[in-house]
Amino acid sequence: MTTTIPLETEKGHTCKLHPQSMCPAFGSLRILTRIEGSHPVMATDTGCLYGLTFVTHFYGARKSILAPQLGSAELMSGQMVEGTRAAIEVAAREPGVRLIPVISLCVAETAGMPEELLPRRVGNAEVVLVRVPAYAIHSHPEAKDVALAALLRRLGDRSSPQEPKTVVLVGEVFPADPLAIDGALRRMGVEATVTLPGRSLDDLVRAGRAGALAPLHPFYKQTINLYREWGIPVVGGAPVGQTGTYAWLKALGAALNLDPNLVEQVASEERARAQSLLETKPLAGSTILVTGYEGTELAYARLLVEAGANVPYVSSSIGQDPLVFPDEMWLKARGTREVVYRKALEEDMDALDRYAPDFVLGTTPFAAEAKKRGIPAMYFTNQLASRPFFLSGGMAATVGFMQQALGMGERYQTMQKFFQ
Ligand code: SF4
Repeated sequence: MTTTIPLETEKGHTCKLHPQSMCPAFGSLRILTRIEGSHPVMATDTGCLYGLTFVTHFYGARKSILAPQLGSAELMSGQMVEGTRAAIEVAAREPGVRLIPVISLCVAETAGMPEELLPRRVGNAEVVLVRVPAYAIHSHPEAKDVALAALLRRLGDRSSPQEPKTVVLVGEVFPADPLAIDGALRRMGVEATVTLPGRSLDDLVRAGRAGALAPLHPFYKQTINLYREWGIPVVGGAPVGQTGTYAWLKALGAALNLDPNLVEQVASEERARAQSLLETKPLAGSTILVTGYEGTELAYARLLVEAGANVPYVSSSIGQDPLVFPDEMWLKARGTREVVYRKALEEDMDALDRYAPDFVLGTTPFAAEAKKRGIPAMYFTNQLASRPFFLSGGMAATVGFMQQALGMGERYQTMQKFFQ
């Protein structure tokens, strides 16, 4: 019998059967390996281990992942729990270890590993089972959320006196951004901010005592659900652009019951600074496509539109979520025609044909294709997300950088002609 592989999607676009991402579990591993005093144990098939160990080292984890040898024979003969316990014992002997995350991945036997058969603590180290069924998570940003929520559920301190004026900021952002946000929030009466995911185990513990959660990236769904379970308010959106910043500061002030006059003063100052940066519409006349995988694409697109750009197409690897809905509505009311979630590279390519942009922000293969066509392009993660973005200071840095990039159009076209 012959199997026919459909080459057309339901939208009539080209084949979407190519892999769109590395193994999503990398997102979890990235944050679990970076915690100081953490020594991860991975419970999975040897095949996953090869790829994930490589990717983790590539991103500078600087520690080995311990794992029991689990090929098909070992998994079939039920040695999985024994092997994992042995690996935990070895991890606990590492100097300075305080946390042993046990990451169980896709394989049915390890995904269903019974938590009660693992120790909760060995020596000085907490043992935390983190279930990461990577193939069902879809994107590596969302796998970060899975790991963070598992750690917080176990380690977040809910029994000590609470800190009602402490805010937990969630999202991997440019290092100066949390400092700038902390500065603005303290002027409104916030006493402390904790930024997750980070390197400090103590921050995870303290995050359980906070007065509000502010996810700067919109895909931290399990973490948000946990805070809702704890009865701690969650403030959506992010301090991005003129309207977004004002609304976010006001919402945070209300969630923490801060002095409304003080909050209004700080929010208005930030809005005025943003207004003076944006009133000349520095990106007017340009058409920009924003494509990425991190979930922040909508917020970036919003800032570009405020700066005068036409952004007809935005795509992300994350799934649709009520937290991004306000940004989607805002963009669609201002000319964005398509917002694509769980996108495929083929959809981005299709948009490149249809919209003739002056500039694109995108993933590596997409940015490479745009450059081949003589269109200036930037790799989203390394070139854009590695700059300040939030509040008026971040906005100035990002918009200035985009202006510079737009000015390179002629050079790209000269290069393209030369190579042709
Ligand atoms: S089986 Fe799952 S954990 Fe293993 S490499 Fe594939 S997606 Fe990743």
